[in-house]
Parts: sequence; structure tokens; C-alpha cells
Amino acid sequence: MAKKKDESEGLTKSLFVRCRYCGQKNGVKDGYKNGDANCGKCRLPLSNEPHKKFADLSKHDYVHPADSKALAALRAIPGIDNALRKLLEVTGESALRVIFTASSVKVTPKQFPDLHAKLQVACTTLGVEMPEMFVQQNPVVNAFTFGSEKHIIVLHTGLLERLTDEETLAVISHEVGHIHAEHVLYLTAARLMEALANASVARLVPGSEIIKFIISAGINSALLAWARRAELSCDRAAMLTVQDPHVVGRVMMKLAGGTAASKIDYEEFLEQGRQFKKTCDDKALDKFWATIINAGQTHPFPIWRVSEIIDWAESGDYAEVMAKN
Ligand SMILES: [Zn+2]
Ligand SMILES: [Zn+2]
Repeated sequence: MAKKKDESEGLTKSLFVRCRYCGQKNGVKDGYKNGDANCGKCRLPLSNEPHKKFADLSKHDYVHPADSKALAALRAIPGIDNALRKLLEVTGESALRVIFTASSVKVTPKQFPDLHAKLQVACTTLGVEMPEMFVQQNPVVNAFTFGSEKHIIVLHTGLLERLTDEETLAVISHEVGHIHAEHVLYLTAARLMEALANASVARLVPGSEIIKFIISAGINSALLAWARRAELSCDRAAMLTVQDPHVVGRVMMKLAGGTAASKIDYEEFLEQGRQFKKTCDDKALDKFWATIINAGQTHPFPIWRVSEIIDWAESGDYAEVMAKN
């Protein structure tokens, strides 16, 4: 709430707004209106609207049914957790950690302080312990989370350069969502299997016996099928943090069409999503997932993701979660 505060016995009047996301007290100019200024700490737009932090959010409050169904199929495979832990052990999950700590910049209160504040906002909103986060110089528009024991989020510069502060919060919250929804062991394994998809590379890896087992037991295909669907749940986690479906929608628009924002109409983009969903019955949907896997896409098409998130926001389920916790 913007308040007038008397200073030095009422001689100077100043206004301040407490950031609804991170709690920082910000001085603002007289005549300030919502959205006029950004917080000095997290750089998110200042507003007098409330921002909800969840006291006890359960993953069951928001996981997408396609995610839970595919996850149940995955968990039903005997010995899967042991096999995947073994995979991470022998393929050197720890080596990945070394690569990122050696080649990326760690986000701290002093290094990328606004990203650190945004990570804090995502974690306090969803109720997740702060993971480590790194920024990597990489033109590929991407962000990901890995690490079965100690979670690490990596953001590519190619992504950060294209997003507004609110959109960046949405992306960080999507990644924090993977931690909250307990996706990270399976997600890390899925990424490793993708990297090892090249058989000649797999032969060089000391754990190739375990890789053979994972492929022959059907774990690999179930894992990849699940990983795409898991994205839909984490878009919802992003939505629960930014609390505006159109921020998530705009991220999808940029993922789909790049950043020539002047040439892309958001309303048209939403309409494209709605039309896409209308023409997709269950049969077409199965085909859709198969196409994604065949196309080697790690994230489902943005058009589909935006139609899913807008649908969820409008279904009443979102309002129910917001009211419950
Ligand atoms: Zn702030
Ligand atoms: Zn994701």
C-alpha cells in the first residue's frame, strides 16, 4: 500500500510501496500508480495488489492429470528408482555439477541480485528450500533443473535476454516447480538418456550395462513420455507464482515466435492455442505426444502449453488452489 510518511517533523513528504513479491520497501514519486515503477531489489513491477504466498501447497493441488498418469505408469516399472539412481551415479551426475560450477556464474545476493531475489520469491511462494542457481552464457533459449541429491537450476543468457522481469520470474518458478513436484530425479535421468541417445556415445560411458537395462526394461520410453507431460504441471507452478496467466502466456509466445514482439499479436496467439485445443481430441492427442517425442523436442509445443495454462486458469481449479492454501 502506498503510504504518505512524514519525515523531519512533516517537512518532507515521501511515498513508499512495499514490494508485494519480495517485501522490500521502495520509495516512489508522488502520483505513483500501480506498475509505474519496479522494485529496487527483485526488479518486479510495484503494485498495491496482494501477492499470495502458499503456506502448505501440495503438488496434488496443481499437477496436470497427464503428468500424474504418465508418472504412475513410470513408477509401476519394477526397480525403476534404483536403476535411475545407479544411472546418475555411473554417468557422473557429479561431473555435471562440476561443469556448471566451473563454467557458469552462480547467482548470489551480490551476483545477479535481482535473479537471486526472484528465486527467493518463487521459493517462498511455492514453499521450496532455495536451490543453487547458475547463469550460463548460451544463446540457446533454455532453462533446466537437475541434481537428484542437491538441486541446481541453470538459466541460459539466451533466455534471460528475451524476457521481462515478470516473465523471468515465471521461468524460474517453472523450474522451482520441478523441485516442488518432486520431478528432479526422473527429469535428470531423462536428460541424461537424451544425451546418451547416440549409441556410440553410450558405448563410451562406463555405465552402459545399466543403460542397456533401462532401455530394455522400457524405462527410457516411459521416462521420455512422462518428461514432456511434466512440463504442463510446472507451467501451473509458474502460474501460481506470477498469479497472472498472461505472463506465462507471453513466455510461451516468445518461445514460439521469438522476441519480435511488435510483429506478434498476443490475442491472436491465444486464439491459435484455443483453436489448436478444439481440434485435438484424445486420439489426436496421443498422436501429438508421439510427434513431440519423434521430433526430439524436450518441451511440448508452446501453442499447446499456452492453451493448457489458459484453460486451467479459466477452469476454476486455479481459483480453488488460490483460495485453499
Ligand atoms: Zn521486490
Ligand atoms: Zn520444465
